[in-house]
Amino acid sequence: MDTKFILAGKSLSDLEKFMIDNNQSKFRAKQVFNWLYLKSLKDINDMTDLPLSTRELLKEKTSLCSITLKDKQISKDGTMKFLFELKDGNLAEAVLMRFDNRANLTACISTQAGCAMGCSFCATAKLGFKRDLDSEEIIQQIFLIQSETGLKVTNIVYMGQGEPLLNFDNLISSIKIFREQFQVGARRITVSTCGIIPKIKELAKLDFQSTLAISLHAPNQEKRQKLMPVAKKYKFDELIQTLQEYTQTTGRRVTVEYVLMKDINDSVADAKELAIAISKLKSNVNLIIYNQNEKSNFKKPNKDTIQKFKYILEASGKKVTIRLERGADIDAACGQLSSKYTKTDVHG
Ligand code: SAH
Repeated sequence: MDTKFILAGKSLSDLEKFMIDNNQSKFRAKQVFNWLYLKSLKDINDMTDLPLSTRELLKEKTSLCSITLKDKQISKDGTMKFLFELKDGNLAEAVLMRFDNRANLTACISTQAGCAMGCSFCATAKLGFKRDLDSEEIIQQIFLIQSETGLKVTNIVYMGQGEPLLNFDNLISSIKIFREQFQVGARRITVSTCGIIPKIKELAKLDFQSTLAISLHAPNQEKRQKLMPVAKKYKFDELIQTLQEYTQTTGRRVTVEYVLMKDINDSVADAKELAIAISKLKSNVNLIIYNQNEKSNFKKPNKDTIQKFKYILEASGKKVTIRLERGADIDAACGQLSSKYTKTDVHG
């Protein structure tokens, strides 16, 4: 079984090579490829425009996907959470949400099983780090979401489990496949990072046309390093400086993400300090209201506090959005992807 050629996640040239090696005409690859990425394929038999002999060959020698869907939950607001099992038994989660009534469908995907960053407020951090996902495993999350729902994903956010910039090569190759194969525009892809400075510099050198979002979450070094251990290594001022250079090089605005937590980082003084800290940074601000969970002592601020925080940043000239809460009732909300299952649970 393991030696089968996995289809989902392959580039067109990989598929063409496979077809040629198996005495099929090269253009069959393009047909398979359209089924894989642009339609919602569930079964090799469903590729009805392929000759029966090609389908038989594919059934014998290939397998659609190496990860499997273990569980799916649907929230009252329509948000869906998917739990995937990887071939070695590790787990990864993804979320599918609709932000408005338009056709946009946003998938939030994972780049690692667990996370090594240890942010004190984050549920994923409690899992610890298991391993990087390879680019096929990253891509297959979208493939399985599409085949499971019959819907085409239009926007992708790398905001699930893990730190994308610490799985850099697989991040970049998966984005390439999403752009070229799934036909998701670069501007509809967002990568969120806790601030790995050398990798942000590396990104700036690439032709990276997607949006970079930075989990800042604090207005200064002292507060940030209490919440996010990564800040001890990559300091606040240097991070802002690096982001400024990034915007200059790429011409692209960054998104500053800021999770508002009651009595931690939500005061008027915090808002003013944040406004000054990012005043020279070409950026929009995305305020995230803390999603509470039973294992955490952090709480969300009240509505007044949130509005005041927003106004102060807006008065400083920033465009500010408040992230809508999605899927909270199924723990699919931001920062809640913690795989309630353990490996043993899944295997029964
Ligand atoms: N490691 C990357 C990608 C994770 S994105 C990063 O840090 O950006 C997940 C986002 O949700 C991060 O901004 C994270 O800080 C935030 N988050 C974590 N726990 C949260 C919670 N309980 N409520 C709201 N946001 C949370």
